[in-house]
Amino acid sequence: AAEEGFDVEDVEGAIEEAGHGPLPVLAVVGRPNVGKSTLVNRIIGRREAVVEDKPGVTRDRVTYEAEWAGRRFKVVDTGGWEQDVFGIDASVAAQAEFAIEAADAVVFVVDAKVGATDTDEAVVRLLRKAGKPVVLCANKVDGPSGEADASYLWSLGLGEPHPVSALHGRGTGDMLDAVLEALPEAPAQTFGTGVGGPRRIALIGRPNVGKSSLLNKVAGEERVVVNELAGTTRDPVDELIELGGVTWKFVDTAGIRKRVHLQQGADYYASLRTAAAVEKAEVAVILIDGSESISVQDQRIVTMAVEAGRAIVLAYNKWDTLDEERRYYLEREIETELGQVVWAPRVNVSARTGRHMEKLVPAIETALAGWETRVPTGRLNAFLGELVAAHPHPIRGGKQPRILFGTQAGTKPPRFVLFASGFIEAGYRRFIERRLREEFGFEGTPIHISVRVRE
Ligand code: GDP
Ligand code: GDP
Repeated sequence: AAEEGFDVEDVEGAIEEAGHGPLPVLAVVGRPNVGKSTLVNRIIGRREAVVEDKPGVTRDRVTYEAEWAGRRFKVVDTGGWEQDVFGIDASVAAQAEFAIEAADAVVFVVDAKVGATDTDEAVVRLLRKAGKPVVLCANKVDGPSGEADASYLWSLGLGEPHPVSALHGRGTGDMLDAVLEALPEAPAQTFGTGVGGPRRIALIGRPNVGKSSLLNKVAGEERVVVNELAGTTRDPVDELIELGGVTWKFVDTAGIRKRVHLQQGADYYASLRTAAAVEKAEVAVILIDGSESISVQDQRIVTMAVEAGRAIVLAYNKWDTLDEERRYYLEREIETELGQVVWAPRVNVSARTGRHMEKLVPAIETALAGWETRVPTGRLNAFLGELVAAHPHPIRGGKQPRILFGTQAGTKPPRFVLFASGFIEAGYRRFIERRLREEFGFEGTPIHISVRVRE
């Protein structure tokens, strides 16, 4: 490496950074208007606009990456969900339940000016039940005179209230220090293989695509493993289902089976549920209703799974209803709308008739295999050497940036770091990704490529 102009420490640092495993997840929960979104903005450094002016505006983005004191983690913002027809308690409780479920630690935000309300107490009970580490944020303490308000929140029994002004940034640093102490280095959901228990599947898709029908079909025809096997603790919201002779864990099936009819915030609720399930899973089976046009919502769900770096299977459902014309148009739509996941294995199923159910497991196994693929450094560099010789980067400003060497820094999903002599254009990066896929497979998995340029 040294003779290529990179020093060994740079290279090792870059590999470590690119190869980071899954990030721990922090959920920010609390009643509406206590300042959750403002706080999330603060934590992520306002890199993305989270706070919407209009109430009830639906946001489908709920997880963000953040960094504090050199540590990276994900933040789940539950601020986008307004009160629903069941009243405030039900909606706050339900959103908190999903978020807490997916989280490794929780920031519970209370409006210190208002003090603890009955709804806050209800959330405290949920937090106790979940047993996750909690950092209590006493928000809207904009100046020293508010500190007394914060101290009243000791009464919640969650330990020290951290006085914070999410709006002005006061106290957020100290609170984030406490968050880092509470947050494990890696998510509790370790991405184990055979030894780590059943593989985890998230069955996701927009409402009415047939998720609960599919779940009932696979759970009904095969065997739902309900009995408590020795040594297995079963999460009540997850379901163990035996498919193709193997036991799988379908995560967050309670969220699929629970019929929630909301007026406001229904889309947001669905997004939050999807994000929570994706965080917990290794592979996402994305269900798409083949009888209807592929929608923006379908694409968002796909993007969510890709960005989370999960293995992906696409299942086109309701195949029993498709006539020849619809099948023709569906293929065109897949080409134009789902180009970002051409690499995902695909099955055409019917939850109603059971068509091609037996193809689901092989597709899931293919995707997981791609997700775990590791290319030895020697093989990778032989491949890169040939590639660069045959297809050099276009010359820019009289110089020709060159890929010098590369390594795979991690798996689940595969992450590569390439070291280059100059800026590598996006088009050339995509070309490399395409060729990597042709050469090494990676079926059913997103791959990350980062490029380091020699100074
Ligand atoms: P959410 O519904 O919990 O996500 O709350 P928002 O982040 O949307 O904030 C609700 C309102 O409280 C907004 O008008 C914010 O500007 C305000 N707010 C949030 N944090 C603070 C704070 O630290 N101090 C003060 N004074 N206002 C705040
Ligand atoms: P979910 O909201 O994604 O859980 O969707 P459901 O499982 O509730 O299904 C929505 C509707 O689509 C129901 O009326 C189902 O009977 C119907 N449905 C689900 N799968 C199929 C299928 O494969 N073929 C047909 N014809 N209808 C289906």
